[in-house]
Amino acid sequence: MKVLQSEYKLCLSCMEKHRVDLVTVVEQNIFKGEKVDFTAVYEYCSNADTFSETEDMIRANDLALKDEYRKKTGLLTSEEIRSIREIYGISQKDLATVLDWGPATITRYENHQVQDTAHDDVLRTISSNPKWFLGKLENKEDCLPSKAYTKYRHKAKEQYSKQRNQYLRDAIYAIYANFEDESITGGVGLNLDKVIEAINYFAAKVINLYKVKLMKMLWYADALNYKRHGKAITGLVYSALPMGAVPEGYDQIVLLDGVNFDVVLYDDIAYRFKPAPYFTVRHLSGQEIEILDKVILELGD
Ligand SMILES: [Zn+2]
Repeated sequence: MKVLQSEYKLCLSCMEKHRVDLVTVVEQNIFKGEKVDFTAVYEYCSNADTFSETEDMIRANDLALKDEYRKKTGLLTSEEIRSIREIYGISQKDLATVLDWGPATITRYENHQVQDTAHDDVLRTISSNPKWFLGKLENKEDCLPSKAYTKYRHKAKEQYSKQRNQYLRDAIYAIYANFEDESITGGVGLNLDKVIEAINYFAAKVINLYKVKLMKMLWYADALNYKRHGKAITGLVYSALPMGAVPEGYDQIVLLDGVNFDVVLYDDIAYRFKPAPYFTVRHLSGQEIEILDKVILELGD
């Protein structure tokens, strides 16, 4: 038994005024055939050596038991279910609507009722697959309040785009897993944060920055830094194509969050890079920025 706090008040166990302790006790209970250890909260009366529970404590203790059971059997806890719902800022009732579940289902799962594994899988999918959830949401547009629907949809799209960006980054790093030879990576591993910053830095200072010039500037920055300081800046690996040095994964890199461009007609369709709004340098060192400035001076007009 652990005392959390004590308070001088009327004790409901012995009906006298004294210091009543708020305590936690580790208990064991059987739930659905599983032996579960959980932490329960009680008020403790030292006069009568008795534990008592308020309404709130009864609810909390019941939830603690069930959450420990869920942890033990690999189900989402009530708190995890709540967090998944909060990713999309969606109400308990509206989420139930989207999933075609009874209106109080989510509320119950976040409180006293343990979900079955089929529903648990659905809840996990909402968290792991925002695109799937977006589809579900769009199917239920007519059943949701329109203002709320707009908010949920915005959140779902935001999640989806975040995830897409993560996949993209993973894919680029996967391509680079093949390049271990220091002589082609310039002695550093790929650093996409630095790549994105270098692109933004160039875009902020060079008018009409198109693909060929950008790639040339990146290559030159890495080469120059290698020559002066013994290692490249970005870790990009360049292959020599007729148009110049092209970084591996270039097509994916330009789609990353933080890389911004206007699509313009310039002979053909072309990407003109522009700095991200509120762009600031956070990953590149002062020494690296000096190199970028030198590159802009030489190639940036
Ligand atoms: Zn008492």
